[in-house]
Order: sequence, then C-alpha cells, then structure tokens
Amino acid sequence: MTRTADQAGLHVETLAVHAGLKIDGDTGAVIPPIHMTTTFLRHADGSYSDGFLYGRIDNPNRRALETMLAALEAAPAPDHAVAFASGMGAAAAVFGTLQPGDHLLFPDDIYYGIRRLLVEHYGRWGIEAAAVDMADLEAVRGALRPNTRLLWVETPSNPQLKISDVAALAALAHAHGARCAVDNTWATPIGTQPLTLGADYAVHSATKYLGGHSDITGGAVVAREAGEQLGRIRLQQTIGGNIPSPFDCWLLLRSMRTLPWRMRAHTANAAALAQALLVHPAVGRVNYPGLAGHAGHAIATRQMALFGGMLSIEVKGSAAEAMAVTQRTRLFAPATSLGGVESLIEHRRSVEGPTSTTPETLLRISVGLEHADDLIADLTQALDALA
Ligand SMILES: *Cc1c(COP(=O)(O)O)cnc(C)c1O
Repeated sequence: MTRTADQAGLHVETLAVHAGLKIDGDTGAVIPPIHMTTTFLRHADGSYSDGFLYGRIDNPNRRALETMLAALEAAPAPDHAVAFASGMGAAAAVFGTLQPGDHLLFPDDIYYGIRRLLVEHYGRWGIEAAAVDMADLEAVRGALRPNTRLLWVETPSNPQLKISDVAALAALAHAHGARCAVDNTWATPIGTQPLTLGADYAVHSATKYLGGHSDITGGAVVAREAGEQLGRIRLQQTIGGNIPSPFDCWLLLRSMRTLPWRMRAHTANAAALAQALLVHPAVGRVNYPGLAGHAGHAIATRQMALFGGMLSIEVKGSAAEAMAVTQRTRLFAPATSLGGVESLIEHRRSVEGPTSTTPETLLRISVGLEHADDLIADLTQALDALA
C-alpha cells in the first residue's frame, strides 16, 4: 500500500512530511523500516520486486530519500535526484560529466573543498577551472571561453555570503552551450529552488541543513532534465560506488521531514543576530543577505523565500583577536560545519589554508535553534572584550 500524495499544488511543508512515505504492506508500519540488505530475490521471469537487485545499485531507503529530494527541488520525476555519500561526492559527480579539455568557471568565494577538488584533482584530468566573481554578471560573461561547459554557482557563497543571480547565470550558460550547477547547500530548497530558476543541477551537502543535526554525512545532485548527463551522474553512484548507507538515507529522510520549519527558525534567529551585530562597536561588517544594506539584497529577495541561517562578520582587530572571540562564546561551539540545531562559530581563514582569499578577521557563524536572545547575549559578551 502506498499513500504517496499527488504532489501537484502541495506546499513544501506538506511535501516534506509526505514525500517518499510508503506504508509497509506486511506490517502497516507508517514509518519505513531500514532495509539492511545488499541483495534482493529474483523471480522466475528474471525480474526483481520494484526493480531492486543489489545494494549498491539501489535500496528502498535510498529511493525514498531521492523521492523526497526530487520533490523539494521541484524536479519533474523522483529519479532526477541522485543521493551520494557526501556533498563532495555529489560535486565530483557533476564535474565527472565533463570531458578532458572542458573549461568551467567557479566563484572566487566558494566552499574551500570544491576549489581544492577542482584545482588539485580535476586539473590532472584535463579539466580547466577558473575563479570569477560569480556575483558580477559582466565578469562572468567576460570569463567565458569557447570550451566553457559549466558554470558552478554557490549562493549564498561560503564564507562571504555573496549572492549570485541564478536565473541570469543559467540563461548565460545556456546561451553559451554550457550548463549551470548551483551548490544549494546554504539556501536549501526551502530558500531557493535552482531548477525552477533554470539551473540544470541543484547540488547539496546533506551533511548541513538537510541532515540538520550534525550527525550524518551525505550529498545529492538533483537534475532538471533526464538524459545523458543525468545518466553519467547516476553511473557514478551505482557503478562508481559513491553511495550513502541505508541507515544514513533513513536518518536523512527523517531529518528532512522538519526542514521547512527548521529553516524558518534558523532564518528568524539569523536575522535577529545580524541586526544585533550590525550595531556592535567591535563589528566592522556583517554579511547577511537579509540585510537591506547587503550588495545582493535585491537579488536575494527575488530568488530566496528565506535568507537562511548563515552569516559572517568581520571584527575590528587582528586575526588573533578574531580567533579569540571563538574561544569566549559559551553557546556557539568553535567548530567547522553548519546547519545543525546547535550554533557554531569558526575563524574560516585559518581552516582554509595558505591559498585562502577569506579576510583574516572574518568569523563564519551557523545560527542554530537556540533562543535568539540567548545567542545575541552570548556573542555580544564574546565581542565586548574587543570593543
Ligand atoms: C560542506 C559543504 C560542501 C561539502 O560537503 P560534504 O558533505 O562535507 O562533503 C560543499 N559545499 C558547501 C557549500 C558546503 O557547505
């Protein structure tokens, strides 16, 4: 028995609760069991139940998760979502659609691991990658080469929260015969649906907001179109073996049921904290797209339903003084990563390494689901020593 609702016209909160929900025919269990099996029975005619054959190729928990991912990203069919073992695995699958000799553009402010993957790994495989200010459409247009096949967009960017215009970049890519992929980890599909803006791929580190509790590593690619490129991405999962476990899929699906409501609360807390930081004497700059003074505010207002739970600040002082702030907070744990219910703070430049372009007094903040007043009080006391 399935109670899969017809998705047309349903709101995202409803989709998040119902997508991928399949009531177990044998037991009536409303919540699906975890299918810890690597192999499935073959029938006399050679077929397999529901097409399940072998654990690496497919698994009921993975398929349910992919159904959810496709629904939230407004993909045309459930099999347009491909779940991977990590966000980096998902990004690698998109880069794996390219051919030696292809060129791609990536943002100058970008999740550091992706830059490393492109420069240190894919460069050796004949894929040229160049950084550009993705928030500057003319700069992107000027950086296109005849062999540019992919625009890799990250909005808001990590860690400076630059905003890029997804619809304009997708149109620019398509006019050039290239594709446009959007790392949607920070916005989440509750904030932005890149495919509805014309992008070809929405890419996720599910480790962050989709998981939401800092206890699962995962990733996903959701594609707008079926066809050869999606086939290449799927091949890297099923034949490349880049797969999440059935338990991780189950846990991630469970987490995503509350994603729309978590994102509202993350956003409300981040907005309140951003306003408070704006007037703190030790803070020189607040990067949050929800602020009217943010350079990308107008675009963000157009393409983001919610401005999200991430922000960064530049403190007045030295790199060491900025680092010291992270040791004075009591609620914000000085740790990397983001998107969990608990707030985190990080001196980003010292994590990114020698080629980092991040300002040395920048602190990246993942605003959790504690009470906003407690968060404001905690960060304020940690910054007061600098003022
Ligand atoms: C964390 C992150 C990644 C990498 O994801 P993993 O799950 O750690 O492999 C990619 N992009 C962005 C924007 C991220 O924040």
